[in-house]
Amino acid sequence: MAIAAVDQALWDLKARLLDLPLSALWGRARASIPIYGSGGFVTYSAVRLQRQLEGWLEQGLTSVKIKIGDDLDQAEQRVALAREVIGPGVGLMVDANGACRARQALALAECLGEQRVCWFEEPVSSDDLEGLRWLRDRVPDDMAIAAGEYGWDSIYFRRMLQAGAVDVLQVDATRCGYTGFLHAAELCAAFNVPLSAHCAPALHTPLCVAVPGIRHAEYFHDHARLEAILFDSGDSLHNGELWPDLDRVGHGIELRRADAEPYQIS
Ligand SMILES: [Mg+2]
Repeated sequence: MAIAAVDQALWDLKARLLDLPLSALWGRARASIPIYGSGGFVTYSAVRLQRQLEGWLEQGLTSVKIKIGDDLDQAEQRVALAREVIGPGVGLMVDANGACRARQALALAECLGEQRVCWFEEPVSSDDLEGLRWLRDRVPDDMAIAAGEYGWDSIYFRRMLQAGAVDVLQVDATRCGYTGFLHAAELCAAFNVPLSAHCAPALHTPLCVAVPGIRHAEYFHDHARLEAILFDSGDSLHNGELWPDLDRVGHGIELRRADAEPYQIS
């Protein structure tokens, strides 16, 4: 993961030396990337969850993701609340962060299906490739099984794809670098599986507009909040999509030095 940061810096440097946005260096495939609101921690009260979901709708997002644990009753209540708040037309996704065993996850998937949950992320540990595959074969057809956020090299991603463990592969450039993300995208193309960018939205925007096959990017609330405080990325949010500023070279991100000063550790 330390190498990932160096890798991003080298790609950024190359694009800056060539006076190009990174997305142009890679070859731009689209102008913007759909994003989904992500947060909804299990520790939130119902009121806090509702406010967060409403905030994403006000920003124009058309899909949202909340966390669930292995408690079936709690998950059922929180997912029902989320569906009530967002209405029938917004995509509802959940992330269990590997909290369940496979049979528990299947019982959960049945109740999630009643609220038309379209995405079940890490229902079991992402190391349990057989468990993910077992669930893929049994959950409703319109519910995608997703995992992959911890991968830092192409061997990890290839194993997951070869096992048929996911409907959508998640890839995080803060862990695998821009180079690892590009390799993951090539593997996804070979296995005919879409991918989705995990967290750190500003860092992923150049990749997301350049790499074909990316379904969406995660607009994780803490990262979106911190990015706005510490960095100026030039990205703008319209109609549920992030649009990069194509006049910026490199990855387009600038540190807000004065705003970051209070957090400096010497
Ligand atoms: Mg996750």
